Amino acid sequence: MTPHISALVADVPTEDSLYEQTMKRFDRAAELLRIDPSLYRIIRHPQIEVTVYIPVQMDSGRFEVFVGYRVHHSTARGPAKGGIRYAPNVTLDEVRALAAWMTMKCAVVNIPFGGAKGGIRCNPTELSTGELERLTRRYTAELLEVLGPDKDVPAPDLNTDEQIMAWVMDTYSMHVRRTEPAVVTGKPLSIGGSRGRAEATGRGLAIMAQMCARTYGFDLVGRTVAVQGFGKVGSVAASTLESMGCKVVAVSDIHGGVYRRDGLDVRALLEHVRRYHSVVGFRDAEPISNAELLELDVDFLIPAATENQITRANADRIRARFILEGANGPTTLEADAVLERRGIVVVPDILANAGGVTVSYFEWVQNRTGLYWTEAEVYGRLQSVLEQAFQDVHQMAVQHRVSLRTAAYMVGLQRVEEVYRLRGIYA
Ligand code: NAD
Repeated sequence: MTPHISALVADVPTEDSLYEQTMKRFDRAAELLRIDPSLYRIIRHPQIEVTVYIPVQMDSGRFEVFVGYRVHHSTARGPAKGGIRYAPNVTLDEVRALAAWMTMKCAVVNIPFGGAKGGIRCNPTELSTGELERLTRRYTAELLEVLGPDKDVPAPDLNTDEQIMAWVMDTYSMHVRRTEPAVVTGKPLSIGGSRGRAEATGRGLAIMAQMCARTYGFDLVGRTVAVQGFGKVGSVAASTLESMGCKVVAVSDIHGGVYRRDGLDVRALLEHVRRYHSVVGFRDAEPISNAELLELDVDFLIPAATENQITRANADRIRARFILEGANGPTTLEADAVLERRGIVVVPDILANAGGVTVSYFEWVQNRTGLYWTEAEVYGRLQSVLEQAFQDVHQMAVQHRVSLRTAAYMVGLQRVEEVYRLRGIYA
């Protein structure tokens, strides 16, 4: 076999690939919904995958070539939607799995988007601002035929931010000879970003806590919360829940955590983080490790850091009543089964952290209508979209006696399948 062919073969999902792992959750939902296997075969495959080799002139004058990907898992329900990540270990398999995840997330909250994801294999910490800009612009230019407000609308993801989205928007606009803000979301406010976008995922998690309280019949006031990860998602979730009357007893970041039985002062903690770039060392609190935080006896545990935090190794020791998944994929398949057996309610990532993509959709709508909403309008609409999504998922869970995770996949897949069935398969 030539090296060229073996490289191609290696890109087909293998049994242990992240894509196949992701598909296990799709498969179970398809089985429970009794979806026609031949139609499901189509949904189970991505639609298009693009690999681009991106030449960039470095500050030193020499050229480097970076590899970048963009995958559309599905555009059946609308333009493909999903972030672009910059990381040294990005692979096509990972991007493919995350694209499928986005199809499901958009369908669960019922916004008219399909699923996509993109990535560039690079180490952004080693690139200057100029190098990052040239990399972003050339990647965008290479994907011109794929992107567009009606085709594919990227957003920020790991190591990409508002500035990078601004460069994507500008590059695309230069090529199409008009300013086209709706080609990308997560932009700075002054070039068409949405009010409330930065806080949307964290607020969404707080809405999930409200829905748990309403559905399972208790009051949020005085409920205890532990948050792993005090970044854009975790810090907003913590401060919003505090403002709703919850007691945030523990938070952590990559350096460690802090605990206070009577509740931390989240506003003071934010100030501490602004000054010292970590929650560690916060006054009036005891130090706690990330592992200990996950095992605290609390009402709500919010993993909002990274994937694979609740695993077979610690699932037996988790004592939270509810887990609201802020991060993508914080719970492994094996841990899921343990938590379900132990009666711990997990609000899954594709529902719990969908506030971000929902406000991304609002940003796209505002760009396309030219009418910009107040923060209160954004939050009001976010609340109703997420409340409805939670109710749909909960109803499915009760009807089929399955976990909220399985139910969320069932709700999403049912919506996707219906569109494929109604549109038919063009041949
Ligand atoms: P962020 O970079 O702003 O914050 C991440 C936080 O997690 C930081 O406090 C960091 O120190 C901490 N952290 C990282 N690795 C850790 C580890 N191994 N142990 C403990 N703490 C660790 O990122 P973010 O935007 O808040 O995203 C957090 C998670 O939420 C990610 O999984 C992301 O994919 C997911 N997510 C984010 C959004 C969004 O809108 N930002 C939307 C959906 C999902």
